[in-house]
Amino acid sequence: MSRPEILYPLYAELETLEGVGPKTAKAFAALGVERPKDLLYLLPASGIDRTRRASVRDVVPPATLTVEIEVGAHFPPRRKGGPYRVMVRDSQLEFQLVFFHARGDYLQTLLPTGQRRLVSGKVELFDGVAQMVHPDHVLRPEEASELPTFEPVYPLAAGLTQKVLSKAVTAALVRTPVLSEWIDPELKRREGWPDWRAAVQAAHLPKDVSGLAFTHPARARLAYDELFAHQLTLSVARASLRRGKGNASVGTGELQRKVLQSIGFALTGAQTRAVAEIAADMAAPQRMNRLLQGDVGSGKTLVAFLALVIAVEAGGQGVMMAPTEILARQHHEGLEPLAAAAGVRLALLTGRDKGAEREAKLAALAAGRIDILVGTHAVFQKDVHFRDLRLAIVDEQHRFGVAQRMELGAKGEAADVLVMTATPIPRSLALAMHGDMDVSVLDEKPAGRKPIRTVLVSTSRIDEVIAHLAQAVADGRQAYWVCPLVEDSEVVDYASAEARFQQLRAALGDGVVGLVHGQMPSAEKDTAMARFVAGQTAVMVATTVIEVGVNVPNASIMVIEQAEVFGLSQLHQLRGRVGRGSAASTCVLMYQGPLGESGERRLKTIRDTEDGFRIAEEDLAMRGAGDLIGTAQSGLPRFRVADLERQSGLMATAQTDARKLLAEDPTLSSPRGLAARLLLWMLDHERAIRLISVG
Ligand code: ADP
Ligand code: MG
Repeated sequence: MSRPEILYPLYAELETLEGVGPKTAKAFAALGVERPKDLLYLLPASGIDRTRRASVRDVVPPATLTVEIEVGAHFPPRRKGGPYRVMVRDSQLEFQLVFFHARGDYLQTLLPTGQRRLVSGKVELFDGVAQMVHPDHVLRPEEASELPTFEPVYPLAAGLTQKVLSKAVTAALVRTPVLSEWIDPELKRREGWPDWRAAVQAAHLPKDVSGLAFTHPARARLAYDELFAHQLTLSVARASLRRGKGNASVGTGELQRKVLQSIGFALTGAQTRAVAEIAADMAAPQRMNRLLQGDVGSGKTLVAFLALVIAVEAGGQGVMMAPTEILARQHHEGLEPLAAAAGVRLALLTGRDKGAEREAKLAALAAGRIDILVGTHAVFQKDVHFRDLRLAIVDEQHRFGVAQRMELGAKGEAADVLVMTATPIPRSLALAMHGDMDVSVLDEKPAGRKPIRTVLVSTSRIDEVIAHLAQAVADGRQAYWVCPLVEDSEVVDYASAEARFQQLRAALGDGVVGLVHGQMPSAEKDTAMARFVAGQTAVMVATTVIEVGVNVPNASIMVIEQAEVFGLSQLHQLRGRVGRGSAASTCVLMYQGPLGESGERRLKTIRDTEDGFRIAEEDLAMRGAGDLIGTAQSGLPRFRVADLERQSGLMATAQTDARKLLAEDPTLSSPRGLAARLLLWMLDHERAIRLISVG
């Protein structure tokens, strides 16, 4: 598919725009502008009121003013570096234009004595005299119409000025063709959105500040364009994945029943629903691409295991990949009894498997003597082959990059893919990141969970905290003690954890306290974890390695030191390590006062709610979308106009609309489909076009 001809002018080199040379073109790159088309979606961030006034009398300095004047006498600087003054007179008052380091002959041409000019700039009082230092604009009266009454102000990058930018934008606007409509006509009418070309023009030439609002119809339309293009790409990716040959893995229910009998509790409604959704996907001939989202403690692991068991019932294999060694081991241990109950052959593969042992596992896997494999990244190394892989599960997805997710999908050519995440993300972000997936949500916690009491305690009261802890340990309770990320260095974390470990051991007794951190040799980590799980140690001092996924139901106390340095979702994840059993749990957030505003807001949010989705919304509000997920590895696109925080509704609409368009016109060859292709080209979604073309 080659680029449509109608877009050629917008795809030309940037240098073909008036006033843009090679140097300026380079400077534009910093703004993500490489072609004229990129200028269209680079919108003004603010604007300056250039309404004409009769006189400087009409404003209270300092103020920006646009006024027609008659040029009077010039007064070149008396000493080097001094101001060059030009006396001017508007309809009522005389004032001065002031220039520094200006060439006199240039100023003589710009402002010839006796002539009229329109000047615009900031007026200030200096020793009681009104001055305009370096006017923004000096125009001949006949050029006055070139200056809009509301002048857009663009975000700049080094090497660019407003003048250069607005000139380039103007030139790009001239090249803007009329394009046929890609937005659903009904939606467009309902929202009162202008045509694309009119929207681009209005967004660049706002009439007043209201034209800068994200709710302005022109801006809203362009925002929607971005969201729609993005969702269209995700839908195309989804469709092409589903088109690929898949396996219909139909479970018998027999092994699932054995698992359910062995666990001694009933599934929650949400778990039952999720398993049914997954089973239906697996039974269908298309490949599954599903996200299982559930707050901490909602019981994702069991759902995952039941899905793996379906793969086995259907005569195939399943694999589950965890982000850390600790988690992989924990999953393996936790699932072992369930596997035994169902007679399913479960194995663990991590980076620690070496030599003959590893060879034996790989051989068993290839021969189908292992039904379910649990492990770390090691499970998808090149030489790992399955006999008949039906389902691949990625646990705690936020630790994996998108690239790894795709790699896993590629492993079993036709394997269904299930991604699990405990990071509750606001719906708009979920749609932006995972719009290509179908989503199952575990929005219900297992019955009998008690709320976690969360308290804020100043570090200065650490002795009291330790005394309470001693009492709790004496009562047979278990606790985590999380040490802060003092600096961005694992060595420093490790040192602080080590020091706290020594102190707690001295206070609570030998053998009562364990330690686990990222710098420890793996075997030692395992031993420490195993001792804690078995209840041999009562207190586990840890760095954030325990953040994700660790499950020790008997642990009911979580102490987090310097909680103010942690992010909201991290605190939520950490706290989620307790409150998993039937005992009432406590979370102690220790802070180093005085708290800053945002630190206080974060800690209070955590104290006041356990609802992961509310916390995520708050996180988004405090930090902004890109920051929330770590843009680079999240697959979260950068939108130039759209604002995910405030336009989540539009994102949902875009997804529905994109899927609908693609369902009706899978090859995008209807008039609206062809228009949508133009949009994809314009917003750099060529990848999607390639996928359609091969499909
Ligand atoms: P997460 O969703 O955070 O990964 P887990 O899968 O680790 O949660 O489950 C947390 C705990 O809840 C585990 O101890 C698990 O055995 C238990 N659990 C899971 N489902 C149920 C249920 N339906 N009823 C009671 N306990 C459950
Ligand atoms: Mg989990």
